[in-house]
Amino acid sequence: MNMNFYMPTKVISGKNCISQNKALFKLGKSCMIVTGASSAIKSGALDDVIDALCENGIEYIVYDKIRENPLLSTCYDGGVIAREFGCDFVVGIGGGSPMDAAKAIAGFIANPDIEPDEIFNIPALNPSVPIILVPTTSGTGSEGNPYSILSLDGKDKKQTFNSPYSYARYAFLDYKYTISLSRNYSLSTALDAFCHCIESYMSPKSTEISRMFALFGAKNIWESFDELDKGDISEQTREALMYASFAGGVAINTTGTGFPHPMGYNLTFHSELPHGRACAVFIGKYVEYQSKCEEGIKLLSDFAAYLGTSPDEIARRLPALAEFTAEIDEETLTMFADKVKTAGNFANAPYKVSYDEMMEIYKDLFVK
Ligand code: NAP
Ligand code: ZN
Repeated sequence: MNMNFYMPTKVISGKNCISQNKALFKLGKSCMIVTGASSAIKSGALDDVIDALCENGIEYIVYDKIRENPLLSTCYDGGVIAREFGCDFVVGIGGGSPMDAAKAIAGFIANPDIEPDEIFNIPALNPSVPIILVPTTSGTGSEGNPYSILSLDGKDKKQTFNSPYSYARYAFLDYKYTISLSRNYSLSTALDAFCHCIESYMSPKSTEISRMFALFGAKNIWESFDELDKGDISEQTREALMYASFAGGVAINTTGTGFPHPMGYNLTFHSELPHGRACAVFIGKYVEYQSKCEEGIKLLSDFAAYLGTSPDEIARRLPALAEFTAEIDEETLTMFADKVKTAGNFANAPYKVSYDEMMEIYKDLFVK
């Protein structure tokens, strides 16, 4: 048994939780609000955050330049602007992209002399300024972990900035901010959260606690797939999904993710497939390969039994919900494999997939 667990974020949940806890925003004198193009406005979260900041007499600047799969350079630029404005803390509002970017900007504010790629040299960094996170998707669980997944400019490649100072001081989980999310993104982000749960559950780094989070998250998401698929999502389901995705984010904080994640990054860059759907495409193969060893079979059947289903049904349903088929030539697939072959994710499961097997998976799925 292993009960190791670390989670320094104070989590506040429930409808209107920001309005009911405005005093918590008093983390400094001036703040940068980090957002995407429009989700912070559409969701209503920006208004609630500005109201809380104003009530505490805190100056703010809105940096709305973050796009999906945030670029390292955009985060660096945000850090420069935040320093010029004298920001001493950051609020990230949005899906995983603005939340991950907020973590990087908080790092750049505290480290004025570094070049963009020096952000990955964690031991050399000053502690980041404080961070508040407000998710508007139910997917990444970024509000429950320190991961900041950044796209390297011009390389179609992601690298994780993973500093012990990147945990949110506060995370506000209010499902009402996800009501404006389209069927496509509601489904895709739920698929992402489900992948976090299953990939975390299967990891040899799991603890009893991370598995509790993974099962809680997976069950709630599994039970929501019918509504998500129809695009008719009740408020009750939205609330369950928000807590489930948070749980998935906490689970991967202990374990990291498995191979669907890096293999999916390539589809995101190549076919502009949203992150969650890109990972879910590989869950059928993930179940197939993990079923090649005894430990994998046992864990998969325990996981599926808790959800009231079977590993085969999970293997069928996730790729079907991802709704993605493509024909990709072998040369491109070799380039995909070379980009992610050093990722630790391939070894983070009972059955360790080799480079040749990774190629087999890509070819099975995309060479017709
Ligand atoms: P996202 O990239 O943040 O957003 C996807 C789209 O949804 C954007 O167009 C966004 O619009 C829109 N959107 C977000 N919330 C909305 C709302 N409430 N109403 C209407 N539109 C809304 O999506 P995501 O899937 O949450 O995040 C993906 C990123 O997170 C990837 O970069 C991935 O690598 C990373 N990730 C991080 C972790 C982690 O643990 N830290 C885990 C998995 C993935 P705007 O452009 O206007 O915002
Ligand atoms: Zn993910």
